[in-house]
Amino acid sequence: MEQASNPQQVIIIGAGFSGLAAALALGSLGWRVQVIERDGAPPEGGPEAAFSGWARRGVAQMRHSHVFLSRLTNLMRDHYPGLLADMTAAGCRILEFRDGLPPGLLADYIPAPEDADLSFVSSRRVTLELVLRRHVAAMANVEILSDCKVRGLLYERQGAPISVTGVEFEKDGTPQQFRADLVIDASGRGSRSIAWLEKAGVSIQEETAPAGIFYFTRHYRLRANMQEPPRGVHPTVGDLDYLKYGVFRADNGWFSLTLAAPEIETQLCDAVRVPEIFDHICALLPGVAPWTDVARAEPMSQVFAMGGLRSHWRHFCARGNPVALNFFVIGDAAVCSNPLYGRGCSAGFLQAHLLAGIFTKSSNSFERALLFDTMMRREIRPYYDLMVRQDTQSIRRAHALRNGDYHPNLRARLARRFFEDGIRPASRGDIKVMRALMRGFHMLENPNLALQDPDILLRITRYLLRGRTRNGELLGPPLGPERHVMMEKLSLNNEVTP
Ligand SMILES: Cc1cc2nc3c(=O)[nH]c(=O)nc-3n(C[C@H](O)[C@H](O)[C@H](O)COP(=O)(O)OP(=O)(O)OC[C@H]3O[C@@H](n4cnc5c(N)ncnc54)[C@H](O)[C@@H]3O)c2cc1C
Repeated sequence: MEQASNPQQVIIIGAGFSGLAAALALGSLGWRVQVIERDGAPPEGGPEAAFSGWARRGVAQMRHSHVFLSRLTNLMRDHYPGLLADMTAAGCRILEFRDGLPPGLLADYIPAPEDADLSFVSSRRVTLELVLRRHVAAMANVEILSDCKVRGLLYERQGAPISVTGVEFEKDGTPQQFRADLVIDASGRGSRSIAWLEKAGVSIQEETAPAGIFYFTRHYRLRANMQEPPRGVHPTVGDLDYLKYGVFRADNGWFSLTLAAPEIETQLCDAVRVPEIFDHICALLPGVAPWTDVARAEPMSQVFAMGGLRSHWRHFCARGNPVALNFFVIGDAAVCSNPLYGRGCSAGFLQAHLLAGIFTKSSNSFERALLFDTMMRREIRPYYDLMVRQDTQSIRRAHALRNGDYHPNLRARLARRFFEDGIRPASRGDIKVMRALMRGFHMLENPNLALQDPDILLRITRYLLRGRTRNGELLGPPLGPERHVMMEKLSLNNEVTP
């Protein structure tokens, strides 16, 4: 990365994924960076020690399955190759585009040059964050202060907007202050920035939306001499409407399973947290059962559960003007999305990288703030808007299914049919459709682009017109039991709420 001519002093609040990414990007400019983190440092040792012993109260989702997108992997490959090398040395894997192809596409697969951009890192989140943290901590101009909680912002007011000049934090119960040229808030979804700015008389507009879904994750490790199951006709990721599932291949022989249910499925949500029931459900899902077979793998953790999740977008520019200068909010602290889409870490890393680019482009505080806001709207906003639309539909559908009164209107029926009988089979039968959808999923392209491309639309329409019988060969057998069968098998009350 280009070196800045005027090294600056930067404070980053939070040593989570985004804060560490910002330290990496700004440290690479030669700037002096202090990262202030409320949690303790990781224990000595490798991924296993960190998985079992690194207390991360500040990141509740630390031990949930994480997918890391190609956009993140490509950034590391192109700008931070040493970090990517550290990750693979620690056992993180790079999965290629071909690794995710269904059998029908794999048989005739001819790699295209652009497929190299669709590879992605696959690992436990703890492992990836551990490696990122150690890589960043080894940089001469970066210092990470653990067990320090930021309590507020220092600022100057010479008219509007205010100018942030540092932070107040607490170390061992003692209040302290640090001053800096720039402060970056990367303190995650629970960021106190809105409250801190309010104290300075600045109000922040926030959009929020419910994610509507509960997450459950359990980790497993392959037994000695056991391999991961070969890719079969049953997908390892699927959506049964009342339950979504996914197998996440990870580092060092580990993998995890995530089950996600609409929040309204309260009985199911209560039941899934019991390890035996979690494994029972896995055994009933054909795409998952070979993974959790006790002869192949052993469970390595409890079932981690997380609900009450909301998405948010916080506006740090109002009517075209920044609300605070020399202060940037990145990662979940700024924009938080439904984990289902697996974008949070990649989005935080991208923001950190692009922020460093903005700093090298402009030294004017006002202009930097506006450039950052423009970048967020260009790079992140299209994903946020699409996600909120999709989540709203899913929540509506889950309520109707649960209550037994699902009577979608014509538009909703057509959209569903286009997905079920068009997009889904086309993505399993046509490599060009698969590539186009994956480019949107992996944040390489605006997520709306694929379905605006006439060629891709035509290809999908062909599958729509072929009809269900012929598409059935591509879609394979059902992903799992219907809701009432699952509820019966789990001995759960199957009654619907009138
Ligand atoms: C169930 C679940 C599954 C997910 N799955 C995926 C996935 O598959 N892929 C993906 O990319 N994303 C996923 N996400 C989202 C992803 O975890 C977040 O987007 C990501 O952690 C955001 O990183 P961050 O650094 O912005 O915030 P965080 O990871 O939350 O880090 C914030 C840091 O700030 C520290 N901190 C907080 N307050 C203070 C303070 N006052 N002073 C000092 N330090 C402070 C915290 O201790 C923490 O270390 C998932 C989220 C959930 C809930």
